Amino acid sequence: MYIDGSWVEAQTGATREVYDPADQSVIGVVPEGDATDVKRAVAAARRAFDEGPWPRMAATERAALLFRVADLLEEKLDEFALIDTLDSGKPLRDSAGDASDAVGCLRYYAGLVDKPLGQAYNVSDPDTQSFVVREPLGVCAQIIPWNYPLMMAVWKLAPCLAAGNASVIKPSVNTPLSAIRFFELLEEAGLPAGVANLVLGSGSTVGQALVEHPGVDKVAFTGGNVSGRKIMQAATGTFKNISLELGGKSPCIVFDDVDMDVAVDWALFAIFCNQGEVCSAGSRLLLQSSIHDDFVQRLAARAQRIRVARGTEEGAEMGPLVSVEHMQRVLDYIELGRKEGATLLCGGERLTSEQFAKGNFVAPTIFDHCTSDMRIVREEIFGPVLTVQTFETEEEAVALANDSKYGLAAGVFCRDVSRAFRVIKALRAGITWINAYHPTFNQAPWGGYKESGIGRELGTFGLEEYTEVKQININLADGPVGWFAN
Ligand code: NAD
Repeated sequence: MYIDGSWVEAQTGATREVYDPADQSVIGVVPEGDATDVKRAVAAARRAFDEGPWPRMAATERAALLFRVADLLEEKLDEFALIDTLDSGKPLRDSAGDASDAVGCLRYYAGLVDKPLGQAYNVSDPDTQSFVVREPLGVCAQIIPWNYPLMMAVWKLAPCLAAGNASVIKPSVNTPLSAIRFFELLEEAGLPAGVANLVLGSGSTVGQALVEHPGVDKVAFTGGNVSGRKIMQAATGTFKNISLELGGKSPCIVFDDVDMDVAVDWALFAIFCNQGEVCSAGSRLLLQSSIHDDFVQRLAARAQRIRVARGTEEGAEMGPLVSVEHMQRVLDYIELGRKEGATLLCGGERLTSEQFAKGNFVAPTIFDHCTSDMRIVREEIFGPVLTVQTFETEEEAVALANDSKYGLAAGVFCRDVSRAFRVIKALRAGITWINAYHPTFNQAPWGGYKESGIGRELGTFGLEEYTEVKQININLADGPVGWFAN
C-alpha cells in the first residue's frame, strides 16, 4: 500500500493472494489492510490537504505533474495492459484500450484545470459585485470496482488531483495490481507525500472504515447497488459529499429500418465486449417484431463465433469472468433464465474443455422471448448474458426501455432521424447513443439516472464534482451598512 509517500505493508502484516481468472494461478500477494491502515492514510491525506503544498500551488503546476504521469503511463501501455489482463481476465486489446483511455483522461484533466472555472454575477445591488470561485473539496475517499481496474482508478484520481484535493483510493480485492503500479508512476512523477494514498482490503473492512471516517469530506464510489446503498447510509454520519456510479440494465433498441448486419454487429458489441462485465452493457435487446426472427438468427450465429480465450492469447475476443464467485453468480442467473421460461438461443454454460478447465469461462449467452417480469430482465447480471424482447410501436419501445429501476445507458438503432431523436429524448438514461453503443469520451459526462447513480464523472461535470462552490461578494461602495442608528 502507499501511504504518506511510502510503500507500506498492512499494520497487522496480513496479506491476500491475487488470482489469474484464466487458471486460478496466484499472480501476486498484496497487503490486506484494515481500519488502522485507513486511519493512517486519511491522516496523511488530511495533512497534505490542510497544510501541504498541493491545494495551494498554481493549477498549472498540478497540471504539469499530471502531464508527466500521463507520459510515464504512455511509455508503459503494454505493461499496464498485461497487468489488467492477468488480473481481470479481459483480452489484451480491451486492456490496451483502457490504458490509452487512462492516458487521455489524465491529459484531459491536466488541460482543463487552468481553464476558466468561475462565474461573475450582476446582482440586484449595483454596489455589489458577486463572484463564484471553485475550490477543492478536501480529502476524497475513492472506491472502485474490478471491471476496468486501471481506467476506474484514473477516472477517479485525475479530476480529484487536478482540482487540488487529496485522495485515499481503494481498488477491488480482485484487481489491485495496476493501481499499485500506477502509484509507482505518481511517485516517480513527484507527487507530494500524502496527496494520493492507496489502501488495499475488503469493502466491508477498509471500504466501510473509509466511508465512515470523519476526516473524509467526499466519497466517490463506483460499484454495485448493494454496496452503494451501504455507502450512502454510512456517509450520512458526517454529511459527506457523495457521488455514486452504480449498476445498469441498459436497453439496446432496434427499429425495422436499419441495416441488419450493422445493427447485429453493434448489438453484439453492446453486450459481449469486456465479457459483459460493463455497467453500461446493452443487456436488454429490444427488437421491432417484424425483424425479430431474422435478427436473432444472425445475432446467435455471430455470438457462437466469438473467440473465447485466455485474455493474453492472440486474437482473444472474450476472456474469463473475474472470479469463481462472480462466474457462479452469472451461471445461477442463466439457470434462472431457463426456469423462468426464456428460450435459450445460444451459450448457457460454463466452458470446461481442456484450455478452459481451470478458468472462469462462460459462453456468450442469449435468451429470447423474454418478458419484463423475468428477473433476468430486471436484474443486473454483469456477464455475457443478453435478453431479447420485442415491441410493435415506438411508444411500446420507450415503455419497455424505461421499465427498469436503472437508468445508466441506452442505444437506439434507427435510420429515421426524427424517430431516433424522439426516442432518445423519452428515455430515462444518462448516457445514450444513436446508431452506436459504448463509445465513451473523456470530454463528455458519464453517469446514470434513477438507481444507476448520483453525479457525473468525466468532462467538466467530473471536475466540478471535486470542487466546492464559494460565493464572494465585494462591496464596491466602500461605506458602512447604516442599518442601526448609532
Ligand atoms: P462492488 O459494489 O462489490 O464493489 C465495488 C467496490 O466497493 C470494491 O472496491 C469493494 O471492495 C467496495 N465495497 C464493497 N462494499 C463496500 C462497503 N460496504 N463500503 C465501502 N466499500 C465497499 O462492485 P463490483 O462487483 O466490484 O463491481 C461491479 C458493479 O460495479 C456492477 O454493479 C457495475 O454495474 C458497477 N459499475 C458501475 C460503473 C458506472 O460507471 N456506473 C462502472 C463500473 C462498474
